[in-house]
Amino acid sequence: MYHACDYNVSFCMRCPDCILYGFAIGESGSEKSKVLVDTAFSITAYEDSHEVLTLNAPFEDGTMSRAGETTSRINTQDHVKPEVFFPSIVTLKDPTEAGFLYVLNNILRTKHYGAQTTRTGKMRNMVLAVVLADGEITSNLRLTQRTYDLLKLKDELRPPDPLLEEDVKQAMEKALTELLQGDGVHYQIIQGDHLKNVLAEADTVLSEEVIGRFLEQAFRESKAYFDTFIGVK
Ligand SMILES: [Zn+2]
Repeated sequence: MYHACDYNVSFCMRCPDCILYGFAIGESGSEKSKVLVDTAFSITAYEDSHEVLTLNAPFEDGTMSRAGETTSRINTQDHVKPEVFFPSIVTLKDPTEAGFLYVLNNILRTKHYGAQTTRTGKMRNMVLAVVLADGEITSNLRLTQRTYDLLKLKDELRPPDPLLEEDVKQAMEKALTELLQGDGVHYQIIQGDHLKNVLAEADTVLSEEVIGRFLEQAFRESKAYFDTFIGVK
């Protein structure tokens, strides 16, 4: 049976989005997100990387009216200038293979950033490492601070000029490796050529011929999760 899911408006409680990213529906139930993210910080200083804009806050689909209701929300918002980097760690708890690929696919396909009413700017995600660990690893803040320190050491910060992508990549890889050693978790880090292979393999799985089968698997898993943990309540 198919339940349409209008995420954040009417959660279906059984699709991969609902199960992996979580939901809360008043008294009728909630599910904690298995995808953990925290605030991201720009490497470069606020005054070199942001400007403030005033704008309308549209609905999820980008329109200003929906089902006859017109939004009048107005926002003042920080606007990020081009070529600003935000080191971010996305943690997936207790992943299955399909769950991991589902979230990886979402990360790679994300082209806008912000809460559902503020997706106004284009962005691009780049995966620099995959860490398999038996506990939570370092924070965005520490990763950003250490990356900043390493860039500074090599004299690669030249405000107000933007940072070079290759410099950031190298500094972040080094920063992450250093920080992981102090995290007190057992871990395996996949980066460089090994990461390229993993991403290429994921790309094959996510290619058009097989994505249907893979999405069905992700849906079967999330539906089974619903039947086991949510539908029975
Ligand atoms: Zn759903």
